[in-house]
Amino acid sequence: MGIKENLDSVKTHIEAACASCGRTAGEVKLIAVSKTKPLPMLEEAYACGCRDFGENKVQELVDKYEAMPKDIRWHMIGHLQRNKVKYLVDKVFLIHSVDSLRLAQEIEKEAAKKNVTVNILVEVNVAGEESKFGTTSEEASALVEQIAKLPHIRIKGLMTIAPYAEDSEQNRRYFAKLKQIYVDIIHKNIDNVFMEELSMGMTGDYKVAITEGATYIRVGTGIFGEREYAAF
Ligand SMILES: *Cc1c(COP(=O)(O)O)cnc(C)c1O
Repeated sequence: MGIKENLDSVKTHIEAACASCGRTAGEVKLIAVSKTKPLPMLEEAYACGCRDFGENKVQELVDKYEAMPKDIRWHMIGHLQRNKVKYLVDKVFLIHSVDSLRLAQEIEKEAAKKNVTVNILVEVNVAGEESKFGTTSEEASALVEQIAKLPHIRIKGLMTIAPYAEDSEQNRRYFAKLKQIYVDIIHKNIDNVFMEELSMGMTGDYKVAITEGATYIRVGTGIFGEREYAAF
């Protein structure tokens, strides 16, 4: 199947998942995860109406940013090293992967230099997987409170990457947990925190994530097909 057919299929599934839980499809924003994929494929997705693209490497995001139309919203969804922050802050629409105060402080420093405000999500390792980045569920709220003091950063919500699962229902509890942490933080009424977004769900589990409240889903394979890591 081509990109257009894949996108149509994903959108149909989004609508069905929303209908099944009383949400409207407009509440769920689809990020086309284009990491490792060549520009012609991004251009095809763009021609189909995609304006949100997700990348997990700074250099690749910046290269694609330069090459693609300027009305695209670029999402940094991968682990971010502090020494790369400076290349990103004025190009990225939302950084999904902020998991430490030190990283947030680096973003603050570079954002202040460029006189921009950077929108971020705090990444939470809800499942507690050792191989994954992200703050712990227990520390998420305290981290949000600390980052909220940085004037050039706007916290927009939370993100998680669920474990690989044969059966996506296995991940429902992790999505529910992230939503609960999110609601708890809202109730704390922290200044400079705008809890609006829950970034959760990928190709294998976005339907479950939607029924648990996702506002951003990140879909790569389901739009562009399998990735070959040597290709880019
Ligand atoms: C690669 C990636 C995705 C997309 O994964 P698919 O299974 O291909 O949809 C989503 N989120 C993050 C953080 C990723 O690195």
